[in-house]
Amino acid sequence: MRIVFEVRKGLRIGIELKCNTCFITEIVWSENPYSDKMPINTAAVSGIMTIGGGYSNLEDILSALDIPSMTSHTFQKGHSRISATWEETAAQSSNGRETTGDRGR
Ligand SMILES: [Zn+2]
Repeated sequence: MRIVFEVRKGLRIGIELKCNTCFITEIVWSENPYSDKMPINTAAVSGIMTIGGGYSNLEDILSALDIPSMTSHTFQKGHSRISATWEETAAQSSNGRETTGDRGR
């Protein structure tokens, strides 16, 4: 097997390997797509959002670590998805508080 190509999807990396005998190619990804863990791109965007930062802050940190950044499009996609989840969670917890408050009246 030899490496023929490197694919990047944000911080997720795929290495395309090719067999020298039968010429079959296969991509091995840096994270398991079936894992229960938060995907690395989501985790990076979520982490930056948690500290109140944005895309340029993520670029700065990754640059300091000598890690190629994700595109602003990938960041924005993650940002929108995480924001929606946070809003949903906030709405659910505030509904819960109102119910508790009504009971006290
Ligand atoms: Zn082979």
